[in-house]
Order: sequence, then C-alpha cells, then structure tokens
Amino acid sequence: MKYPKVLQNLIDKLSTFPSVGPKTAERYAFYLLKKDKNYLTELGQTIINLDNEILNCQVCQTLSETNPCSICLDKNRTDDLLCIVENTQDLIALEATKQYSGKYFVLGGLINTLDGIGPEELNIKKLISLIKNKKIKEIILALNFTLEGETTALYLSKLLKNHVKITRLARGLPAGSDLEYADKTTLSSALELRREIK
Ligand code: ZN
Repeated sequence: MKYPKVLQNLIDKLSTFPSVGPKTAERYAFYLLKKDKNYLTELGQTIINLDNEILNCQVCQTLSETNPCSICLDKNRTDDLLCIVENTQDLIALEATKQYSGKYFVLGGLINTLDGIGPEELNIKKLISLIKNKKIKEIILALNFTLEGETTALYLSKLLKNHVKITRLARGLPAGSDLEYADKTTLSSALELRREIK
C-alpha cells in the first residue's frame, strides 16, 4: 500500500527543504492534510506570491517588494558607507541592530571552490558598476566568519582596496559563525569595532 499520489508528491517536495528528512516531510504533509480548505488556499497563494511579488532591488540586489528597495530610496541613509552582505537574511540581521545608517549590497552567495561557485556566480559586476557610480568612502565586508566568507572577503579586498577604504566586521563573532544567527549585541559591536583591511 502506498500513499495517494498527491500526498506522496507533497512529501517528496517537502523533503527537499533544508534540514527536512523524509520522516519530517511526512509529518508536515499529515499536518497539512488536517487543515481546512481556507488555510490550504491561503498557504498556496502565499507560496505563489513569492514568485509574483518579490523582486530583486536593481541597485543593491536585495529581495524587496519595490525596485529600488526602501533602503536604497531612503534619503536619511548615507551613500558614504556600503555594507556588503551574502544575502537578504544577513542584511535583515544587521538592520535589526539599528546601528547602521549606510547602504547595502547583496552578493547573492559566497565564493565556494568546492561547490564550483566562483566570483562570476556572484553579483560582482553589479557591485563594481555601483561603486563606479556612487561616491562611496568605505566598504564594510559583513561576511560570515567561515572558509567561504574568508575567501570572499580576501577576493573583494584585493579587487577593491586600491579604490576605496575596506573594513571588515570585528572578530567578536566566533569562527565558523553565520551572521544571520548572531545576536544583536554581538553584531552591533562587530560592526562598531570593524577594522580596516590594508
Ligand atoms: Zn536596494
């Protein structure tokens, strides 16, 4: 006896999620099966809206409902500072500290030679044209303290340091740590105590 096709299909889809194995996927699928039609319709529509209503800001590349995003449009934020992050989750984590009043740029990943992700796979060309078009005084590399974060920081600092001052978050964050999971206080002080890369 097998599960009905639609149910098995849902289990298969859910088990492709990060950290979700087949057993957890099965539990989620049965959870959904107990929900009423309104809930399922709303959930389905929410998922469809991900594709319909979320854009990439063409200036900073973050996920946004508008293009340019609200941060790029905010006149109270300075163009002097540009903070480079891996993804929108890290941008949100830094915004939560309320310590930063510059702009951002989202790389869309980190260099990972094992997985075949080189600089060409990231938004580096867009970053360079952004830097050319704006008068930026300092670039803050707010990248994870992981091997991929280090490799990417090294690559970017070599690429950009002759043009602009480059700083990196202070090492308040433990090695191997992911920015989006860092607590606000640690992240605030890492930002405040950032040091220049020469
Ligand atoms: Zn933007």
